[in-house]
Amino acid sequence: MGADMEHIYDVAIIGGGPAGYTAALYSSRAGFDTVILEKMSVGGQMTLTDVIDNYPGFPQGIDGFVLSSDMQKGAERFGTKTMYDEVVSVDLKSEIKEIKTAFSGSVFSKTIIIATGANPRELGLENEQELLGRGVHYCAHCDGRFYKDKVVVVVGGGNSAVSDALYLSHLCKKVYLVHRRDVLRATKIYHDPIMKADNIEFCYNSVLGRIDTDNDKVSSVTMIDTKTSIKREVECDAVFISIGRKPVTEFLSGQLELDSGGYIVADESTKTNVDGVFAVGDVRTKVLRQVVTAVSDGAVAAHYAEEYLSR
Ligand code: NAP
Repeated sequence: MGADMEHIYDVAIIGGGPAGYTAALYSSRAGFDTVILEKMSVGGQMTLTDVIDNYPGFPQGIDGFVLSSDMQKGAERFGTKTMYDEVVSVDLKSEIKEIKTAFSGSVFSKTIIIATGANPRELGLENEQELLGRGVHYCAHCDGRFYKDKVVVVVGGGNSAVSDALYLSHLCKKVYLVHRRDVLRATKIYHDPIMKADNIEFCYNSVLGRIDTDNDKVSSVTMIDTKTSIKREVECDAVFISIGRKPVTEFLSGQLELDSGGYIVADESTKTNVDGVFAVGDVRTKVLRQVVTAVSDGAVAAHYAEEYLSR
């Protein structure tokens, strides 16, 4: 579908993950003219997970691709249009907001819901991408269960890494927590439980130098002590990289309030500092970034978009 310069949508949603398609479902079902702009393929981070088993209603778990595609079909059944194009910039100043795309020109809309998500930060190791899903993971809560009674490495020292290490310590035989400094960044609340977990080994002042494989699967990592440069090889079955996320907000070029991490500042109402513009899912400031919290945001944003449109 191409952009139509004459057309003004009621609701334009940027990003076709679970938050975006839930907003679209609610908004098109309520009779609003709704479009989703998606850069590549729908589903967002959800498609990186083979089996999602913490989304309610699927006792056997659900394939990330299937759930994404079903969410899209569910919204399109009520008239949501999906436009495959990259959003390069937005102009949020006027009452009719403009979304500039890479290939189809501009899309105009009375309200905008931003659902562009956040990508995990990568370590940048040579084979990191190649091993994705085969021993290298960015989400302990999604993929940890594949390593029951195994040995895993968690990289990072923030709240995510520490809560991932704790979560994995209940499932796995042993967890190495590799942090580049000698103190954790994670808040105090995590310190007591993590120190009490007897199967977590702390590897401070350490970075991963390489990940090695056997039969195409992760078999060991080599850590490097940042003070002494001494290398240590550790056998393991998986590496969970938990060094923060990069919210996809560059295209906003300063038009919405962001926090220091680049996330759009919005509370549970999903309202941003610009009237008629909402932020949902992983791209907004929130404590728990999961499919279930993303879909909840989508419904809330559609509700407030409807309220805005009926003023
Ligand atoms: P974060 O707080 O930014 O921490 C990232 C960690 O990764 C830091 O320890 C950092 O080391 C390390 N790191 C960054 N780049 C690295 C690299 N290239 N190599 C090795 N280590 C690297 O990110 P986060 O833990 O994902 O948390 C993100 C936000 O979500 C935070 O605001 C956090 O408080 C919040 N959160 C809250 C909860 C909760 O309260 N329950 C749970 C999870 C997340 P340095 O310390 O040396 O910089």
